[in-house]
Amino acid sequence: MLQCNCHIVGDPRTREALVIDPGDDAERILDVIHRHKLRVSSIIITHTHIDHVGGLRRIQEATGAPVRMHADDLELYRMLDVQATWIGWKAPERVEVGELLREGDAIRWGRYEALVLHTPGHTKGSVCLYMPDMPDDRAAAVAAKSTEHEPGRLFAGDTLFAGSIGRTDLWGGSFETIIRSLKGKVLELPDETIVYPGHGPSTTIGEERESNPFLVGNQ
Ligand SMILES: [Zn+2]
Ligand SMILES: [Zn+2]
Repeated sequence: MLQCNCHIVGDPRTREALVIDPGDDAERILDVIHRHKLRVSSIIITHTHIDHVGGLRRIQEATGAPVRMHADDLELYRMLDVQATWIGWKAPERVEVGELLREGDAIRWGRYEALVLHTPGHTKGSVCLYMPDMPDDRAAAVAAKSTEHEPGRLFAGDTLFAGSIGRTDLWGGSFETIIRSLKGKVLELPDETIVYPGHGPSTTIGEERESNPFLVGNQ
């Protein structure tokens, strides 16, 4: 209903996959996982708003994969029933949370690696995941004798959107903090980085640096 983007990042060679924000539509997510014969090695929650964790229980049970989130969002996760009443949902059952995410953690699956950026502001425990490159990109660049650097990817949760940023008027939100996270961490990434937000279309860091009304001007 709230159109949250769930991302499934699989290594085509090892079939290991990461699931990011299974918000809803658990059966559709499981269908993709099964169709591509993926084995989910962990489930990452960018933040614990209900629209990002609504399908979590079902995905966790079906895959057995550990669930990871930032400690500063655990309190919000415990308020799922309160969040549910805000939007008229039935409160989803919570799951056991595995190892907590910390700034700078490297998450590895298959041949891939993503780094955790703690980017508070939308919620206290919001994180982004940054994949500097993918081995397949590297191989393609070598095969094409390209010296061009392949772009990294950022899974931004609700911290950064194409042309906007996450709202900060909900529990634990802070406009000053999200701007600090964006300018201090997210905009430090290379311009060509492809950004996959929690809602809406993908974008790039360069595009947002240039045209996002919340980020232009006062850097
Ligand atoms: Zn959110
Ligand atoms: Zn959201």
